[in-house]
Amino acid sequence: MNHFEEIDLIAPIKRALADENYVTPTPIQAQTIPAAITGCDVLGCAQTGTGKTAAFALPILNRLGKQNRKPVPNQPAALILAPTRELAIQIGESFATYGKHLRVKTALVYGGVNQNNQIRAMQRGVHVLVATPGRLLDLMNQGHINLSRLDVFVLDEADRMLDMGFLPDLKRIIQELPEDRQSLFFSATMPPKIVDLSQRLLLNPVTVTVKPKKSTAQLIDQQVVFCERGDKQTLLKDLVRADDAERVIVFTRTKRGANTVADKLEKAGISSAAIHGNKSQNARQRTLDAFRKNKIHVLVATDVAARGIDIDGVTHVINYDLPTEPESYVHRIGRTGRAEASGVAISFCTSAERDDLRAIEQLIGKKVPLAPNQPKPTPGGSRDEVRGSGGRPSKPRGGPRSRNRSARPAGKSSGPKMSGNPVAATGGAGTAVAAKPRRSQKRKAGFGVGIMDGEAVATATRAPRPKGSGRKPRPQQG
Ligand code: AMP
Repeated sequence: MNHFEEIDLIAPIKRALADENYVTPTPIQAQTIPAAITGCDVLGCAQTGTGKTAAFALPILNRLGKQNRKPVPNQPAALILAPTRELAIQIGESFATYGKHLRVKTALVYGGVNQNNQIRAMQRGVHVLVATPGRLLDLMNQGHINLSRLDVFVLDEADRMLDMGFLPDLKRIIQELPEDRQSLFFSATMPPKIVDLSQRLLLNPVTVTVKPKKSTAQLIDQQVVFCERGDKQTLLKDLVRADDAERVIVFTRTKRGANTVADKLEKAGISSAAIHGNKSQNARQRTLDAFRKNKIHVLVATDVAARGIDIDGVTHVINYDLPTEPESYVHRIGRTGRAEASGVAISFCTSAERDDLRAIEQLIGKKVPLAPNQPKPTPGGSRDEVRGSGGRPSKPRGGPRSRNRSARPAGKSSGPKMSGNPVAATGGAGTAVAAKPRRSQKRKAGFGVGIMDGEAVATATRAPRPKGSGRKPRPQQG
């Protein structure tokens, strides 16, 4: 499934996806959405960042859009349970984005704030309720929320929910769910307690597993250069002049920094341009097009502006400044090494940025190797220690593209992908297992098509019907 056009979603949803520049479903979406649209239960093993929110939000919106019913006071049609307020808010925003051309009412219910607005929203009637367990139970106990008309139940980040001690609350909520419902269950890990919980909730689920095949960190040749702030520009010029640095993205922390770096490169005769939030959308697009067409050698960007950049053949990512958010590092370096190509990511690190580097190393689970020929700095790293090699890292190893600049391939975009998503950036491997039969279908061996290393993989197993479950598979109503 390479295109959202191939999925049977109603037009207003497709329009919203086009507005967001979503073209290709992520592996979890490609497998979950078609199954969920038919009314199947789904057991999804996937982490945040894989696109799982849309994987459950789109089929729910599709169902609600087709039904086109008025919302019923206090009785939501869909409930999404999330472990934290932050995640609930994000999910609510995703429903607003994907459902913006539909008349679907969404409400949020979470603790830590006054409940009155939430109660009023419920009284006005909602289709989709996104909630954390504690406040949901409170409002249920007070009679403000009734789940008896629920069509779809989603449990998101189930493992985190259990880690946070929500199991007793969850059990009480599950007791209130109607038998005749669809359940979608997502968890990043599947320890026995989660498997047990999923069996209580799900009926003959389609199982979808999406794991990062190789993390970005494994694919990309990463190096760190310890330096002083004042040396960065010279280092950068040396690096981008290297033969194998054919198409380079440089990241700065600030918009001003991006302008300054780009200007100085230009003055040094290196074609470059900056993109950041102060530039108009049109200006950004023009710059990106020029970069794609090799009219610009170096693109200097801030994190925000670089979201969603999807350009093939980026040989080098250079972190002129280290990001303060370690996740941004993974997103940044994922701009190179696309489509299994090996890329090079070089990070400049001053003594003031050491903590940022440590946080990054913790996240990626390994030390970023020193650029070759650099002496190892001691903690606190003085200027002399880090400049022992003259401050210039050796040429990055293994540039993926031809050394002949004139033969540089014209950049081509394969369309927008996950904006800064580490999993998608490296290509997720997915497997889908076991389809639940619809009432009209004869029972046959379950099927599922997954994407593994870019190839379709079919597996055939079926989840057993959970003991004591009187629930029957239910075809989706129009
Ligand atoms: P999630 O895992 O749901 O938190 O999604 C991670 C990020 O990927 C979010 O910023 C989404 O907007 C983005 N995203 C999800 N699906 C797609 C897609 N098919 N194409 C591009 N971006 C996507």
